[in-house]
Amino acid sequence: MTVEILPLGGLGEVGKNMTALGFDGKYVIIDMGVRLDSIMAFEDAEIGEMSREELININGIPDDSSLRNRRVRAIVLTHGHLDHIGAVGKLAHAYDIPIYGTPLTLELVKHVIREERTFKPKNELRTVMPGDSVEVDDIELEFIPAAHSILQTAFIAAHSADGTVLFASDFKFDEEPLLGYKTDRACLKKLAKDGVLAALVGAIRIDEPSPTPSEGHVKEMLQETMIEASSAGKAVLVTTFSSHITRLKSIVDLSFELGRTPVLIGRSLRNYCTAALNLDLVDFPPELRIHGRPNAVHNLLREVEKSREDYVLICTGHQGEPTSVLSRIANGQLPFKIKRGDGVIFSASVIPNPINESNRELLETKLQAQGGSIHRDVHASGHAGRVGTKEFLELVKPEHLIPCHSTMDKLRLMADLGRELEYPSGNMHLLRNGSCLRLSG
Ligand SMILES: [Zn+2]
Repeated sequence: MTVEILPLGGLGEVGKNMTALGFDGKYVIIDMGVRLDSIMAFEDAEIGEMSREELININGIPDDSSLRNRRVRAIVLTHGHLDHIGAVGKLAHAYDIPIYGTPLTLELVKHVIREERTFKPKNELRTVMPGDSVEVDDIELEFIPAAHSILQTAFIAAHSADGTVLFASDFKFDEEPLLGYKTDRACLKKLAKDGVLAALVGAIRIDEPSPTPSEGHVKEMLQETMIEASSAGKAVLVTTFSSHITRLKSIVDLSFELGRTPVLIGRSLRNYCTAALNLDLVDFPPELRIHGRPNAVHNLLREVEKSREDYVLICTGHQGEPTSVLSRIANGQLPFKIKRGDGVIFSASVIPNPINESNRELLETKLQAQGGSIHRDVHASGHAGRVGTKEFLELVKPEHLIPCHSTMDKLRLMADLGRELEYPSGNMHLLRNGSCLRLSG
């Protein structure tokens, strides 16, 4: 009996994560993501309007052709980032099977499906609470709590008669996550005790030698920066990932501590916050204003402009996205102007690709030309670096190690770590999208 591992996206690249695991000829799909930099490279690209073929051709979504005639039993989603769920609207309809995920992940999937224009996926959405398991045929799918930069992230342990495969692409060990849960070490230890045949482990930050700071530490950094930026008469703007509810909560709380009223502006901020609020995952004060529609955004910005020192403007634009609120402010397209001495805090690092890098540089140049004072990188990653990855491997002790979710240079760096941990070379596998690894259970 063999276990098959078929990566369809996310290997040798960052984005469009999708992997199929095969047990005795029955398959489970883990994640269906998009590759945003490929899509952004095409001006005016509207993913909802594009066909599956078009998107595969521009390397925007995984090519799942090799799976179409196989016995696929479930689509399982690890978390709600678009590089893990963004292709559900394009691909899931071809499989008449349920989609499993944690409540927030599925809430965000509903949004992806609503935005879809070319297909109407009708897959049943089945909620799995973090820490719970579901049976699909004779495969048990266990959702293990993992800390990451979006709430309700899970590792997926697929248990079968032929062995357990653990999918662990996005996680960090965070002793002070502020919201949500810590990565469940006890559960990982138990897996190790029962034996893990193979683990797919994300390598995106493996080149970072120091431990990834906690969200608690980021809140302290933000507090310092916001106090520094908040001089009399000056505006304070903060931008971060719209999906990072924990970070947004820190910024909202710190704004009140400064005696300023936080307001959240931008369509994606509204979408993610609404999803988290609907599920009671965050307790924003009821009077907190979160606006995404153009009229509401304009009205609120006019109000902030009149009384700049009374507000903290939390907005989209951390990667310099041209249609974001911050870019439109810098372009003079909104009724709020940057003035000399206003503080602009980027609570995010630049996701390294040429489009983001040039967008962000352009945005910063404009903001500075208007007198804005820029504070960069008030941020910590949601991914384990080398230290966290080593701890993970020492805890789980998978028999086979498959680095995933990164460019080839970083997959190789994880293999170097594997060698240091005395993995035999035959038990480490540098796979490519479209390949198939067969392991004996
Ligand atoms: Zn992620």
